[in-house]
Amino acid sequence: EVRVRFAPSPTGNLHVGGARTALFNYLFARSHGGKFVLRIEDTDLERSTRKSEEAMLSDLSWLGLDWDEGPGVGGEYGPYRQSERNSIYKQYAEKLLDSGVVYRCFCSNEELEQMKETANKLQLPPVYMGKWATASDKEIQEELAKGTPYTYRFRVPKDGILKITDLIRGEVSWSLHTLGDFVIMRSNGQPVYNFCVTVDDAMMRISHVIRAEEHLPNTLRQTLLYKALGFPMPSFAHVSLILAPDRSKLSKRHGATSVGQFREMGYLPQAMVNYLALLGWGDGTENEFFTISQLVEKFSISRVNKSGAMFDGTKFRWMNGQHLRSLPLEELIMIFGDRWKCTGILVESDGEFVKDATELLKDGIDLITYADKALSDFLSYPLHSTLAKAECQPILQDKLSEVAASLIAAYESGELCEAIKEGNAGWQKWVKSFGKLLKRKGKSLFMPVRVLLTGKLHGPEMGGSIILIYKAGICGAVSSRTG
Ligand code: GLU
Repeated sequence: EVRVRFAPSPTGNLHVGGARTALFNYLFARSHGGKFVLRIEDTDLERSTRKSEEAMLSDLSWLGLDWDEGPGVGGEYGPYRQSERNSIYKQYAEKLLDSGVVYRCFCSNEELEQMKETANKLQLPPVYMGKWATASDKEIQEELAKGTPYTYRFRVPKDGILKITDLIRGEVSWSLHTLGDFVIMRSNGQPVYNFCVTVDDAMMRISHVIRAEEHLPNTLRQTLLYKALGFPMPSFAHVSLILAPDRSKLSKRHGATSVGQFREMGYLPQAMVNYLALLGWGDGTENEFFTISQLVEKFSISRVNKSGAMFDGTKFRWMNGQHLRSLPLEELIMIFGDRWKCTGILVESDGEFVKDATELLKDGIDLITYADKALSDFLSYPLHSTLAKAECQPILQDKLSEVAASLIAAYESGELCEAIKEGNAGWQKWVKSFGKLLKRKGKSLFMPVRVLLTGKLHGPEMGGSIILIYKAGICGAVSSRTG
């Protein structure tokens, strides 16, 4: 049975890298009809917080990556927080001690520091050189009687090569002589990270460990622990780093990197899932647009790239726009209407107006948060007040005098408004006859008309624009901010 896990440490926010790891695990589980387990790695008691855990769970849920076992869901291999599993780790540590794979090390911190320095001077690898690996029973009993604190240290084979076959990176090997005996339990009884992960992955029957490349050195220690504990080995897949456009490791200084930030900026979860999937994976075609269920259908670990994937914020934003526009119009109208209302651009929701505005503006918007700027920009040139205001007229006339004078006349006589009331057909008819009157057509007619009526050189389709500006003026739906 396929069982995978996402195992975040709740010491901060869920970042792009973690979210991608979670997604790959999720897709792998779902595409194999397996289980997706969530485990909280809160052994670092000082840095772990419940608040961070809650935020991570909420971000995962927002992305739609629902877990089958873990906090809030339960499951038969719980508890799913490492801080609640101490007695389990302890039990296995004792087992290893009994079998002799682990020994008690009574070295003080000062002694260890000194060994490190000596090794450094001799340019030797920083391996444990203390006497406790080979101490006699008598020596050990003496220290125990004195109450000297001790750690549990794992006996690493002194030479040889350890190999694993990584599902993404192929064969990975380490020579053991540089590793040195490592601690699995501290003198205060706190088990060490690599030990917890191994015990948990085994106890939770994890079949595939899919995680970030930076955990590769841990895999070496964990593999030794699997063997010593007699647990069956899972398969490993180490996913490459996510890089910033400057090819360095993506970090906060490159801008937004956490799921929560993108969520606040108005990204859609389905767009985020889609973009994260493309960070190191593709289906082998040119297609880049996937829903989560398509991803479940197409995802395969063998198509995950072993070189670093670049996080391109511009592309992500573009992709969000694609997802936004692929939503049913009714849904988009609701999203835009809510946005305009909550930002105060619309004082009341005139359904018709919101619909017109959404239809007109949606093509130019990649982020929901841009919708307010799009609308207020658009309405910052209200037809009524500008064309009707006496003080504006000389400016307009001066700019594009011939067209402006006729346009103002058409406005003042009410002719233009009458035409606009009839909707797009009315507008088309009017602008045609207006062109005839001025003996202008095409660009020489539409450019000045656009500038005069919208105050901008470019924008969405003219008829829709004028009608929207006109309606905003009469329906009173627009707050004074824009007037
Ligand atoms: N807790 C580790 C982290 O947040 C993950 C460990 C693992 O996946 O094995 O980076």
